[in-house]
Formats: sequence, structure tokens, C-alpha cells
Amino acid sequence: MDFRDSPEEAAFRTRLRTWLAEIAGKFPTSGDEYWAKQGEWHQALYGAGFFGLSWPKEYGGQELPPVFDVILDEELAIAGAPPRPSLGYLVVGLGHHGSKELQQRFLPGMINGTERWCQGFSEPDAGSDLASLTTTATRDGDEYVIHGHKVWTSYSDVADWCLLLARTDPDAPRHRGISAFIVPMKQSGIEQRPLKMISGVTKEFGQVLFDGARVSADQMVGNPGDGWRIAMTVVGHEREPSTLGFAARYGKLVRQLAARTEGRPPEDLAWAAVQSEMLRLHVRRRLSEQLDGVNHGSEARSTSCS
Ligand SMILES: Cc1cc2nc3c(=O)[nH]c(=O)nc-3n(C[C@H](O)[C@H](O)[C@H](O)COP(=O)(O)OP(=O)(O)OC[C@H]3O[C@@H](n4cnc5c(N)ncnc54)[C@H](O)[C@@H]3O)c2cc1C
Repeated sequence: MDFRDSPEEAAFRTRLRTWLAEIAGKFPTSGDEYWAKQGEWHQALYGAGFFGLSWPKEYGGQELPPVFDVILDEELAIAGAPPRPSLGYLVVGLGHHGSKELQQRFLPGMINGTERWCQGFSEPDAGSDLASLTTTATRDGDEYVIHGHKVWTSYSDVADWCLLLARTDPDAPRHRGISAFIVPMKQSGIEQRPLKMISGVTKEFGQVLFDGARVSADQMVGNPGDGWRIAMTVVGHEREPSTLGFAARYGKLVRQLAARTEGRPPEDLAWAAVQSEMLRLHVRRRLSEQLDGVNHGSEARSTSCS
């Protein structure tokens, strides 16, 4: 694949650079300050025409090829701007498995940033082994009642909605007894506790305790027992070419560190430079495949941390 910009891509890049120069410094890029302003940043990107680039027009996207997302990620990294809020996994999850009604109700607000979302998958004893999750959703009339404990839930403190995995059939084989729901976060029955990271950041992750929270049965995504299939779509997408934005950031960091070593980088920094270049090339290969319509499977999952 030829990775040079087409005329349309070059024009987009120029327009983006001009906008980024105008807003430079207005949005923090790290720490709690970044998380506090992430929603505003999302809406600023969307308002300027730089968010939801490859998503359906029907829901507020622009239906551009995914290479435009990659240009966006690269330019954000080069400009020292905050990263693009990562929501593609939710858009793809709902887009593949949600009913038309759920898509029409939820995708526009998710894409334009007026409604915030989080992902309630991981639990204290169900991380890598996600299928062992124990959060339950029990049918009660037109609703499900939820009990359980989620952890590492990014942005749970500000989320309006949670894409939640819960066990609806305790007797089914463990991968088949799980269902996915769109759960309203602002209700009694949900307690959100911040998690403090070693870096001091308190606003990125939360743990969420469900004790009798309720969700309408028509906010189940797909059918009962479809949760595992939906989770695989979601986590498969999380490791897609959006990682190129991370690759650009790692590369920049390595170069900045190298510049401080007066031409004598230590061995581990040289190895970090090799690894960041390997990541960049690996993700470019995946992008190339995606543009050729190749569906990404588990091989793509080794390239990202979120
Ligand atoms: C930046 C970031 C954002 C995240 N955001 C969210 C979010 O929004 N929502 C959400 O639900 N989760 C989120 N997570 C959580 C993430 O999905 C979990 O960290 C992941 O599921 C791993 O679970 P764990 O941390 O409990 O690790 P564990 O499952 O305890 O694994 C710890 C280590 O042990 C290894 N290991 C585990 N089992 C085995 C085995 N059988 N054999 C060999 N090695 C094994 C793992 O590979 C890993 O290295 C996020 C994580 C990160 C880093």
C-alpha cells in the first residue's frame, strides 16, 4: 500500500493542522486535568468536523475511509494535543449487534459527545478470563436487576451509560450465559468509586458496584446469551489501527528522551525506539489490511493497551 497522502487526505491534514494550531494549549494532555476536560475535548473535535470520521453519516459520522482516523491520530500526536477519545469499540459493538432502535437512540449522542459511555466488562476476578464474570442480571417483569462488581471501568465517574456484560443464565455453559445491556449509570443501585493510579491520576478508572440497579429489558443488546459474541466484537475492534495514534505518541516520546542523551542513548532506550517502530509498522500493516476489507481477528489484539 502507498502510505503517501492523496490530495483529499493532504487537504484534510492541512485543515486539521490549522485548527490544532488555533486551539493549541487549551486542552490538557495528561493527569486528572485531561480526564476532567475529556468530554469538552470530544465535543470540540466533533464540532470542528474531526471526530466520527469513519462512522455512518446516519448517526453523525462522515463515512470517510479509516485512513482519515489515522491522519487524525498522527496529527494529534505531532501537535501535542490530547488523544482522540476511544469510542470506536462501542460504535462497532452497537453497530454490529444492536437493534435499529438502539442504534438510532444511542449512536448519535455517543458520537457527538453529548452522552458519555463506559464499558463494564472486567471484574476483580474476571480480567483476562472474562468468561468467568459473576455480575448477574435477573429478569423482573420488563426489567433486569443487576448485582455485581466491575473494575478498571474507564470514565465511569462521568458516564451516562454503560455497556455492561452480566450473567443472565447461570445454568448455561459459561460463555453462553452472558448478555450485554445498555445500563443507565445515574441511578440508585449503582455506586461509583474512583481508583487512584500510581501516577496519582484518580479520574481515569473507577470501580462500579451494582446492588439492585435496573435496566429496561429492551436495552439488552442482541438476544439473551449474545454477550460473549458482542464482547469479542468489541475487544477485537479495540486493537485496531487506532493504535497508530499511540505509536506516533510513543515514537515522539522516544525521540524526546533520545534528544536528552546527547547522542549516547542507553541500550534500553535504543530498544524502545526499535519497539515503537515495530509497533508503527505492525499497525500500518493492519490498516492496509483493513482498507482491503480483511477482518481482523485475534492477531490484532497484541498491539494495544486499552
Ligand atoms: C488503559 C486500560 C483501560 C481499561 N479500560 C477498561 C474498561 O473501560 N472497562 C473494562 O471492563 N476493563 C478495562 N480495562 C481492564 C482490562 O481489560 C483488564 O486489565 C484485562 O481484562 C486484564 O485483566 P486483569 O487486569 O484483571 O489482569 P489478569 O487477568 O489478572 O492478568 C494479569 C496477568 O496475568 C496474565 N495471565 C492471566 N491469566 C493467565 C493464564 N491463564 N496463563 C498465563 N498468564 C495469565 C495476564 O496475561 C496478565 O499479564 C482497562 C485496562 C487498561 C490497561
